[in-house]
Amino acid sequence: MPLRPKAQYEQLAIDLELGRKVVDLGLEDRRVLLEDGGTIGWDILCLATGSDSRRLPGFEDALYLRDLDQAVRLKERLDEGGALDILGAGFIGCEVAAAAAQKGLRVRVFEALAQPLVRVLGPELGAYLAGAHREHGVEMRLNTTTSTADLVAVGSVPRTMDGPELDNGIAVDQSGRTSIPSVFAAGDVTRFFHPLYQSRIRVEHFQTSERQGFAVGRTMAGAPTDYTEVPWFWSDQYDLNIQYVGAGLAWDSTVTRGDFGKPPFTVFYLAGGALIAATGINDHHTIARVRRVMEARKSVTTQQLEDPSFDLRRALA
Ligand SMILES: Cc1cc2nc3c(=O)[nH]c(=O)nc-3n(C[C@H](O)[C@H](O)[C@H](O)COP(=O)(O)OP(=O)(O)OC[C@H]3O[C@@H](n4cnc5c(N)ncnc54)[C@H](O)[C@@H]3O)c2cc1C
Repeated sequence: MPLRPKAQYEQLAIDLELGRKVVDLGLEDRRVLLEDGGTIGWDILCLATGSDSRRLPGFEDALYLRDLDQAVRLKERLDEGGALDILGAGFIGCEVAAAAAQKGLRVRVFEALAQPLVRVLGPELGAYLAGAHREHGVEMRLNTTTSTADLVAVGSVPRTMDGPELDNGIAVDQSGRTSIPSVFAAGDVTRFFHPLYQSRIRVEHFQTSERQGFAVGRTMAGAPTDYTEVPWFWSDQYDLNIQYVGAGLAWDSTVTRGDFGKPPFTVFYLAGGALIAATGINDHHTIARVRRVMEARKSVTTQQLEDPSFDLRRALA
């Protein structure tokens, strides 16, 4: 599935070197070394190598879901029907569970923590989501693990390379600069400085990798651009559209807009009184608006957050 037609790369005068893996950045000579022994010289370099599935020892024969051939194998497995065991109740595990249950498979999900997605969504929303899966016939086995599974979905690891400073990903500033002059990085592989959080964050969602990529590309081309958007993504499971804005950082209190458990509703997460994240269930408008409020660094009171009659766009004025 090419992202763009081949002709478009030609029009843009981009040499697309497919099937050629870089094994060394060649920092001294500014010349990358390829697996096939070839080299390519560079003046400015960008690492956008993404992330890989976290592998678990003992699960060498299980399916992981990262590349197209793995997706094809998973589809074949779903078409076979029968039973499907999934290890990990993160976004990928939960989405596959929902798809498989809706195809009529008998699905079991094994999760070491107390609820699905508990670290990002919190225990209450985690429990709500576990309930939604159970309602659709999924056996959600929490606080436990398993020694065999068809699919292992236990997170991802950045595909880093030797050279630039690492910090659970390649450490970059808000424009993608690494610790090495003329070497940039963008996308899933980075842990980037975010001015809203005043710390480095790592995000594994395409909206962020794409938008941050634009800022890094402009900076490399001589127009320094900061990436300051608040990360946002969504996940569809059954009839639930889960939208999240934020960076999965720790919070100390939550506020709910709407009736918890009766979509549409949104949970806001605060740290020291500051709004740092929100999860909306079938509540796109609230998430779109609160995202703009966060990006504009506008403050809202907890009363305004929980009052559905308060249009969050008023906070932007
Ligand atoms: C199953 C699955 C479902 C997902 N669903 C969602 C979703 O619903 N919403 C969402 O926002 N995000 C989702 N994501 C995450 C999203 O795919 C990533 O955030 C996004 O692809 C990151 O883009 P990237 O360009 O940084 O890296 P990638 O898309 O991973 O691209 C990196 C590229 O670099 C190549 N590469 C790596 N190392 C080398 C090397 N040494 N030499 C040459 N080339 C190399 C790789 O082959 C790859 O083509 C999902 C991911 C997975 C696996």
